[in-house]
Amino acid sequence: MTYQNTLAFAQQCDREDPLAHFRSKFLLPKDDKGNPQIYLCGNSLGLQPVTTKQYIENELTDWAKHGVEGHTDAEHPWLPYHEFLTNSMAKIVGAKPSEVVMMNTLTTNLHLMMVSFYQPTKTKYKIVIESDAFPSDKYAMESQLKFHGFDSKEGLVLWTPRDGEDLCRFEDLEKIMEEQGDEIALLMIGSTNYYSGQHFPLKKITELGHSHNCMVGFDLAHGAGNIQPDLHNTGADFAVWCSYKYLNSGPGSLGGCFVHERHADNKDLNRFAGWWGHNKETRFNMRHEFDALSGAEGWQLSNPPILSMAAIRASLDIYEEAGFDTIRAKSEKLTGYLEYLLDELDNDQIHIITPRDKAERGCQLSIQVKNANKDLHTKLTKAHVISDWREPDVIRVAPAPLYNNYEDVFEFVERLKNVL
Ligand SMILES: *Cc1c(COP(=O)(O)O)cnc(C)c1O
Repeated sequence: MTYQNTLAFAQQCDREDPLAHFRSKFLLPKDDKGNPQIYLCGNSLGLQPVTTKQYIENELTDWAKHGVEGHTDAEHPWLPYHEFLTNSMAKIVGAKPSEVVMMNTLTTNLHLMMVSFYQPTKTKYKIVIESDAFPSDKYAMESQLKFHGFDSKEGLVLWTPRDGEDLCRFEDLEKIMEEQGDEIALLMIGSTNYYSGQHFPLKKITELGHSHNCMVGFDLAHGAGNIQPDLHNTGADFAVWCSYKYLNSGPGSLGGCFVHERHADNKDLNRFAGWWGHNKETRFNMRHEFDALSGAEGWQLSNPPILSMAAIRASLDIYEEAGFDTIRAKSEKLTGYLEYLLDELDNDQIHIITPRDKAERGCQLSIQVKNANKDLHTKLTKAHVISDWREPDVIRVAPAPLYNNYEDVFEFVERLKNVL
């Protein structure tokens, strides 16, 4: 792909973009003059689909009309409502439908998965995580170590970039496993690191972990809806994600959970149980001993919030219509254009932390601006660019292929040039 550093070229790409019309399916935040802002924050909170309101209203209407009977008589009955999300969600993360369920929120699911898949012994108890992991993941790991009576510092092994480098190297993870594999019980890695944007080789990590008898899980918060993690084929034991970033399902909306099919009917695994994970045939008899559903569904606890799931349905229907491969193809080209324009700035202050190889990143680029401080971000915000600032000197920008266009990317780099 040869790019050009002109607005005309960006507009030409937009005219040729097979997904161009999807932009109008989203509500773009406006500036004070009523023009759409340059929204590059879909890695933090995805935008609202125009249809979301209607999907939620339909449930409110059915609740008004049917009361409790809505569980069976609503247009989309609430009893099996989570099942309406499963097929689309499974495709997006490359899993079998039986391996996927939408429930709870990300960190809650992470704890539930650790109840089942973190089974430390006195000698094999450590957890490996990437050093720049999202704080919530680190807190979850540390509290699990403490809960099992281990020292949370000593028990948490950090996979760290080398001095002077920004990215983690696979060979350094191999070295950790060679040296401490006998003491490690679990590898829990953010599939696409939230800070650097580095996407890790999930299958290689899983094979490495399994060869040392460790469980392997991934946090796909920055992967789901962004890259194709191909979860089933990685062989990972479990994965968790949220639906409000790339999956555009609204603030605090429900998370997703993957349990590999090899664990589907393992009733000996520890698990924290609730009635929604119980056999559907006898769930309402209420007097039976817990009988876990087969597959990921068996980890559900409560009857789920239908209004939140309605928003997820609205978003997944858009993914279905666009097709994930088409979305990803645009994403690679769009982020490639951003990378090209940043390189064209030819400014020594700017350093792209995110890998240059498309296979090792999603849509986000993390841009280090040397000697900059948060003023830079404030100025960008004043210039109607919505981006994300991470101390000490990194701007994260994520052109989302469903609603961002080439002109957004061109304009962003123009405005960045102006404020620098
Ligand atoms: C966004 C994000 C979270 C947020 O967790 P919640 O439980 O949904 O609040 C956790 N981990 C990672 C890696 C994230 O990117």
